[in-house]
Amino acid sequence: MRSLWVGYLVVGGLLICAYYAAPDGPAQVPVRLVTYCAVSASAALAVAWGLARHRPRPALPWILLGLSQAVYALADVIFYVAHYVLDDTSYPSLADAAYVGHYPLAVAGIVLLARRRRSGPELAGLIDALSLTAVAGLLSWVMIIGPQSRADTPALVKAASLTYPLMDLALLLVALRLVFAGGRRSGAFVLLVGWLAAILAADTLYVLQRLSGDYAAGNFLDAIWLAGNLALGASALHPSMRRLGVRSTAPPASLSWLRLAVLCAGALVAPALLLLQHARGELRDVPAYAIACAILFGLTVARLAVIAIDQRRLANTDGLTQLYTRRYFESRLDSEVERAGREGPAFAVLIVDVDHFKAINDTYGHPAGDRVLAEIAHRLRGAVRSGEVLARYGGEEFALLAQDVAAADLPSLADRLRRTVAEAEIALGPGESVKVTVSVGAVMSTGQDSGAALVAAADRALYRAKAAGRDRAAVGSCDDVPARRSTDVGSDFLYRIADLVEQRMGRVGHGAAVADWAQVLATALGLDQATVARARRAARLAHIGAIMVPNDVLLDPLTPDDHGLARMHPVAGSRLALVVPDHAEVAQVIRQLHERWDGTGWPDGLAGADIRVEARIVALCEGWASVAAGCPDAAREHLLSGRGTRFDPELVDAFLALDEDERLLGVRSRGGPGRGYPPR
Ligand code: GH3
Ligand code: MG
Ligand code: MG
Repeated sequence: MRSLWVGYLVVGGLLICAYYAAPDGPAQVPVRLVTYCAVSASAALAVAWGLARHRPRPALPWILLGLSQAVYALADVIFYVAHYVLDDTSYPSLADAAYVGHYPLAVAGIVLLARRRRSGPELAGLIDALSLTAVAGLLSWVMIIGPQSRADTPALVKAASLTYPLMDLALLLVALRLVFAGGRRSGAFVLLVGWLAAILAADTLYVLQRLSGDYAAGNFLDAIWLAGNLALGASALHPSMRRLGVRSTAPPASLSWLRLAVLCAGALVAPALLLLQHARGELRDVPAYAIACAILFGLTVARLAVIAIDQRRLANTDGLTQLYTRRYFESRLDSEVERAGREGPAFAVLIVDVDHFKAINDTYGHPAGDRVLAEIAHRLRGAVRSGEVLARYGGEEFALLAQDVAAADLPSLADRLRRTVAEAEIALGPGESVKVTVSVGAVMSTGQDSGAALVAAADRALYRAKAAGRDRAAVGSCDDVPARRSTDVGSDFLYRIADLVEQRMGRVGHGAAVADWAQVLATALGLDQATVARARRAARLAHIGAIMVPNDVLLDPLTPDDHGLARMHPVAGSRLALVVPDHAEVAQVIRQLHERWDGTGWPDGLAGADIRVEARIVALCEGWASVAAGCPDAAREHLLSGRGTRFDPELVDAFLALDEDERLLGVRSRGGPGRGYPPR
């Protein structure tokens, strides 16, 4: 059954051979008549069989093609009976009426197929088809229509001879439209295009031969027509005919090199023919050339415009969701803010974030996650008014710029977006679906705030919706105090304590200077960014524990108790830092800042590499800072004297090398050595 179409082509091919092999004599006419009409009628029957067997959707194009072929086969029967049996060679005849009648049916069938196959309104393909048809029209005018119209023939002959080329041009236009419409190039498609190419070629040659008086019934043209008929029949028998009218999901084919070459060659036809006529000294049809060139020029400009519009659309469209890009959203938001400033507020910004999307990726895989995003985008698009800017704002975040929204309606709009995603599960495959929810943050424009401020306010509202349990919408305003992360609040708190201690000690800027040196040294040692950042932070916060020690004890510890109290500050500082989220490692570094390389430090008596490298770095920079401001030579001496006892020897060498290379010069040195600063 699969290769029915192949068998059909083989048998049809044998019939064509039989047609030409029919020996001269009384048997030739019946053999030719039967074989010719059998082939053309078989194509109509094959279409009927294909329709019944494959049940294509939609069926109408195939019904029209089948009818067109039936009319065509009828025309063949009339022509051959009249020509060979009745010896009636009048032109035009009843056969011509039937031949002409098959065109509108074929054109309508192809138009419907092409319309069904294309993925969307595709202007570029239509313009290309029009351009090539315009070129064919010019050729047809110069070689066929012009001479026919000038020929001294009866009106009916003239009408028939003009109708054929015009019908062929219409068929060419829709055939090109079909080819350029995109979609799968299946077996049925190739055979159908073969049918169109064969009848267009044979028709054109037929009219040319008629014009030159070379036509003789039964010449090679019959082979082309018959082969074309077979191609149509085989196309209908091919299993892929069922899906020939299925809408293409792929974007329309881009301008291929082949199409470009054909279009270029087409554009050169008019000038080439003009030059030829000029060389021969017989300029004819100048108005036809002028009109053809004007049409082609207009179509070329239209094609350029389509390319430019397509490019702009592509640049503003997110590939996965087909929504606008974030860049486009932001540019529209800016112009909307400007307009609102002049004409009053009337728009809202909504940010939609998918809840627990990472879990969807983790459970079903990234490609399934992509499908979920595309479906959410589809649902959101269905929930907003056309013309509103809906964009993919980030990975799994969407943003909507809603115009003409009253503040009172904003909560229901935000909730509508939420509901449209949550109300039905999203199918991932056969028997598998997932429930997805989103949280929405919304804000109304005030006419005063920038686009960035509006997005930030919508984001804060979104954060509240998330914090309140997700799958909900929250409306905020630009006046909301930003909800700050506990880490930020906490580290601010630590820096303020550090500043307070520096003020008490009269060493404002000391921590910042040590932090800068620590950063230079840590970077020169090739440590990773996180370690460098930790060293910086520990340097800045090194003495926060001193906030617990009374000022007089800190500045001048006299008794052993005083010493004990002063010595507790690294431990106290470390505990303070531990209160703040994400500061566990910094706290460890602060605790170790008074450890010594030889193990005689405090509070834990750690030695060598047991002391964190950040702590070794900061301790060394502290040592440098305590002396350097007054006298650099003394500072160098101070480091060298502590090399291997107090300080890590390698770090001392690296730091002094930096000093020698004058790489510490650009580093700020604020504050100075304090008086009796906590004992080491
Ligand atoms: P919640 O927003 O509820 O706090 O949780 P969440 O899991 O959605 O949080 P988060 O914003 O941290 O996770 C977003 C995830 O989205 C992380 C990233 O892997 C995924 N993602 C981002 N872009 C894409 C994409 O284009 N395709 C897929 N499949 N996943 C993406
Ligand atoms: Mg997110
Ligand atoms: Mg999320």
